[in-house]
Amino acid sequence: MIIIKHIDKIEEILAQKKSNGKTIGFVPTMGALHAGHISLIEKSKSENDFTVCSIFVNPTQFNNAIDLQKYPITIEKDIDQLELAVCDILFLPSTAEMYVEGEKNEHYNLGMLETILEGKYRPGHFQGVCIIVDKLLKAVNPNTLYLGEKDYQQCMVIKKMMASKNYDVVLKVCETVRENDELAMSSRNIRLNKNERIAALKIIETLKFIKSEIKPGKLDKIKSTATNLLTENGYKVDYTEIADAETLELIDYWDGDKKLVALVAAYLNDIRLIDNLIL
Ligand code: AMP
Repeated sequence: MIIIKHIDKIEEILAQKKSNGKTIGFVPTMGALHAGHISLIEKSKSENDFTVCSIFVNPTQFNNAIDLQKYPITIEKDIDQLELAVCDILFLPSTAEMYVEGEKNEHYNLGMLETILEGKYRPGHFQGVCIIVDKLLKAVNPNTLYLGEKDYQQCMVIKKMMASKNYDVVLKVCETVRENDELAMSSRNIRLNKNERIAALKIIETLKFIKSEIKPGKLDKIKSTATNLLTENGYKVDYTEIADAETLELIDYWDGDKKLVALVAAYLNDIRLIDNLIL
């Protein structure tokens, strides 16, 4: 695997590959890699001539300074995992290169996606995500971008950003990889202590409860029961919501027909966990 730290270098190498007719798959990450990230690398490898992974802990997408400070950094292990997965290129840019001093950040029109769910509870987060993914896409210029369904709303936000900027890039949303006990893999899981790790299972249990109990009609009761399942187990809940799986419009009354997704974000002490399940 080649490790590249500079934008001009990655642009040069990848432009050359593309002009030789090679296809490029791209997996952007913030590191602390786990099997969920590696599944995206594997998917990209199976569909492209070259796979690029980026690791960049993007400061503008952290709306909480402590969350950024505590974000796990495991770069040596990450490199080992990427080598093992036979990733072709690791792009490892510096903050100074991604955020040039004096450069004004672009603002993206994300519509209601920015005011609901993650957008509501993490103000500025999706602007930060768009700023960095836009810059990374310009540098890598992939044929296909691979994202995880674990970050359901993020996939929609990036899709909207890419459409608004006319990116000629295919977006592939890949299934959430889970631990054996079905906890969604996440870089933040490293921070869970033994008791928190057990309690963390309540998130997927709650989503499954919604999936098994949902019926056409009003959804307020099932949402509040789901929230209670979490609060009873020590969580501070940001949201327990049910939304249109295509648009993410929040749904209070289900016609029994529309495809839905249930989404949860909740804190166990100071660790924020998110997950979702298509219903
Ligand atoms: P992150 O490093 O958390 O920013 O994630 C980088 C990419 O990996 C994003 O597209 C995530 O949605 C995806 N990802 C994170 N966790 C998982 C998982 N458990 N399964 C599949 N993809 C994931």
